[in-house]
Amino acid sequence: MSPQNSPVTTLTGIGFQTANRLEKLGIRTIQDLILHLPHRYEDRTRLYPIGSLTAGMTALICGKVEFIDILPRGRKSLICRISDGTGTISLRFFHFTASQQHALKPDTWLMVFAEARYGFSDLEMVHPEYTVIANRNLAIPDNRLTPVYPLTEGLTQNTVRKIVKQALNWCGQNESVLTDWIPPAILQQYHYPSLTEAIQTLHFPDESVSIEALQNGNVPALKRLAFEELLAHHLNLRRVKAKAKVWQAPALPASKREVEHFLNTLAFQLTNAQRRVIAEIEADCRQHHPMMRLVQGDVGSGKTVVAAYTALLAITAGYQVALMAPTELLAEQHYRNFCAWFAGFQTQVMLLTGQIKGKARETILQALADGSTGIVMGTHALFQESVVFDKLGLIIIDEQHRFGVNQRLALREKSQHTGLRPHQLVMTATPIPRTLAMLQYSDLDISVIDELPPGRKPIVTSVIPAERRTDVIDRINHWVAKTRQVYWVCTLIEESETLQCQAAEKTAELLAQSLPKVRIALIHGRMKPSEKEAVMQAFKQHQLDLLVATTVIEVGVDVPNAGLMIIENPERLGLSQLHQLRGRVGRGKDDSYCLLMYQSPLSDNARQRLGILRDSNDGFLIAEKDLQLRGPGDVMGTRQTGQMQFKVADLVRDGDLLETIQQVSDIFFTEHPHAVQPICERWLAEGSIYSEV
Ligand code: ADP
Ligand code: MG
Repeated sequence: MSPQNSPVTTLTGIGFQTANRLEKLGIRTIQDLILHLPHRYEDRTRLYPIGSLTAGMTALICGKVEFIDILPRGRKSLICRISDGTGTISLRFFHFTASQQHALKPDTWLMVFAEARYGFSDLEMVHPEYTVIANRNLAIPDNRLTPVYPLTEGLTQNTVRKIVKQALNWCGQNESVLTDWIPPAILQQYHYPSLTEAIQTLHFPDESVSIEALQNGNVPALKRLAFEELLAHHLNLRRVKAKAKVWQAPALPASKREVEHFLNTLAFQLTNAQRRVIAEIEADCRQHHPMMRLVQGDVGSGKTVVAAYTALLAITAGYQVALMAPTELLAEQHYRNFCAWFAGFQTQVMLLTGQIKGKARETILQALADGSTGIVMGTHALFQESVVFDKLGLIIIDEQHRFGVNQRLALREKSQHTGLRPHQLVMTATPIPRTLAMLQYSDLDISVIDELPPGRKPIVTSVIPAERRTDVIDRINHWVAKTRQVYWVCTLIEESETLQCQAAEKTAELLAQSLPKVRIALIHGRMKPSEKEAVMQAFKQHQLDLLVATTVIEVGVDVPNAGLMIIENPERLGLSQLHQLRGRVGRGKDDSYCLLMYQSPLSDNARQRLGILRDSNDGFLIAEKDLQLRGPGDVMGTRQTGQMQFKVADLVRDGDLLETIQQVSDIFFTEHPHAVQPICERWLAEGSIYSEV
């Protein structure tokens, strides 16, 4: 076993139990332990005069016990008053022992560390850490900041401090663990310390490092590690890209006749941006190597038809296409669109979701296996082992942010038996900030549809408090009288789908009472696909005026006559998600409105975020702001997929590093290729290192 992989139990004093507890923190190896950094620090390097304390200060003090008392008032507590000549402060203990009471007798000198707060009458420290010292001169502050580590049940700060110290010593003897894979020239260029130095500083900072800088993440040691970690993620995906391009893929040249036929069946002209992106896709698909392309475009920019065009290339060349969508609703909608677009072609379009079972499912699986179906739409169900293709030539993944890299790779395995890899087209739901795309999609080439189809008017967005509900209801009445349609989106309870559906049901009932003439229906994730389908169809055909929905309608749903959307509790959602929801309106030529109806009081951050949405319809700008305000997990919706989990890096704090990652990774591939694998191994979880792709 290489020293890098030495388990924590290699260290003395770490038994089975401690190892188990560490594992809960994701720590298995000594290297993991070393990368388990303090999340904050305590400053015991300085003695504060008691007279200088203010509420909220966490400080080390030294004082002599003046008196001690047990207060029976309220919750019984032990009070010990100490003084150092500059002032006095009370130490308060709600839990205490007789021996403790005895030890704290008057005239005893104490060194105390805790946060000072306002108590009943004066400043006090509740359950402080303290030590009894023989005299004042023995109050010696630490010479370093004290690290405070993230813990798990059963582990104490002291245990972790001790084993980290031991681990650092062990690394001193096994130098290869902390081999610095970042070449000196790069360290110099960015003024980064060496790996060992950085690690040492972060665990046991010396006097030169200020606690503020550490707390803000503004120290070269931390920046260096964050940089290395981001680089590792980027390198990993770049490597996927490099290796994937070596595979053989079927060439899918465009056939002029088929393309013309397809374009003639469309009810519109492609925008210039769509044409440009299609040309990029065509160039990829002509190659005998797999296309790996991400299409970015704002809501409503027309990504679906670009996907259909790509599908056309595959089926004309005699290959099958799998299109995967994140929700059934969206898969069904794509299915209907594709059925219409490909009606005049010799191919069969099918839908496969988890809900389709039994005989119907068998028939579809058979048609995919024998190649009689050219295009299949589906949800996660497409990943299942029982799904076998005859000649899969193209995978399209819509609304990519819901799926992780792992899922993307899994679907690719589906055509392995042909010896050829399918081409891959990935489409995002909402624009992704450039820097993030560079990190998370560095295995893909990126195309951007930066233009909306002509004639779209911007959606007018207002931010209003829920107290104005009656005005909103009046507005719905007027709107419906103009034969336009309305969405009412309930976002109330994000945590539970069941509760969210119940809330939507309740809202639908209340609205039905206040709007007796309006035809109202409800749609939510708990309904059967056939029921959802029926409701959607009725709404599309204007047999309904108002659709009360949960966020299931978030992606893709397309009903141009619906031009008014009310979003309840928008403060609960991320900007990108709201932008996506809002994108359900503004799909036709007429005016459209979005009312963000918040629950008071609104936090400053929420007010700011809703303001951004009110002022802008530009998905790229909104995504950038969302990244600044909420962080990448929320922007990408990657919480669920478990991607982009960093040990050290924080994309909001360290976002500035992304600019340089690309350049540095170029240098790695050309000049230090041997360093790529060890860097990935250091930073990435085992399952996400794609060296064998
Ligand atoms: P998104 O990029 O959000 O997935 P869609 O593909 O659903 O957008 O397209 C939004 C709407 O715009 C659809 O009704 C689609 O038919 C229409 N559309 C797409 N391209 C054009 C175009 N070039 N001109 C007019 N309408 C278009
Ligand atoms: Mg779409």
